[in-house]
Amino acid sequence: MAINLFLEWPLLKQLVRGGDGTGPEAMSPRTRALRPRHVGASVARSVCPYCGVGCGQRIYHRDGQLVAIEGDPDSPISQGDLCPKGAASFQLLTHAARLTRVKYRAPYATAWQELPLEQALDMVADRVWASRERGFVEARDGEVLMQCPSIAHLGGATLDNEENYLIKKLFSAGLGMVAISNQARI
Ligand code: SF4
Repeated sequence: MAINLFLEWPLLKQLVRGGDGTGPEAMSPRTRALRPRHVGASVARSVCPYCGVGCGQRIYHRDGQLVAIEGDPDSPISQGDLCPKGAASFQLLTHAARLTRVKYRAPYATAWQELPLEQALDMVADRVWASRERGFVEARDGEVLMQCPSIAHLGGATLDNEENYLIKKLFSAGLGMVAISNQARI
């Protein structure tokens, strides 16, 4: 037992095997046995949701549970790299403080209440339509205008071409909005 402990002494291993003390000579058997947690997990490819760069991510999952999120070496954008925000997106999904229910604070209320998602979406739709009805300009100075200047839309960086196309159709052609932009341009 004592001799085994002595043989595992990092200084002795460094003297015997060489190295600068940061390689295998400094590893315990337990450290050597460690493997990345995503080894053997299934993988799906995705895009970091944080900004307009759109770095590629590999989403590792096992038995329906998220295991790890790593940079995607096959991404022509990021070639396997993630900045600190993207590298922390595992916590975006798994952190205990993550909100998973809609929170609503009514006008003049001091407390938040939880709402079903369907109800919250209906409330948003009602407010968008009411704002449009209040602010829609059909004509100005005798010219047909058909504009809704009272609402603006700012899209998120991970909206893809098709989603942006539909957003533009809905809000421009459908509602008459003119102020439509995307976070990726900022
Ligand atoms: S990893 Fe960083 S740079 Fe890349 S998309 Fe995410 S936030 Fe942007």
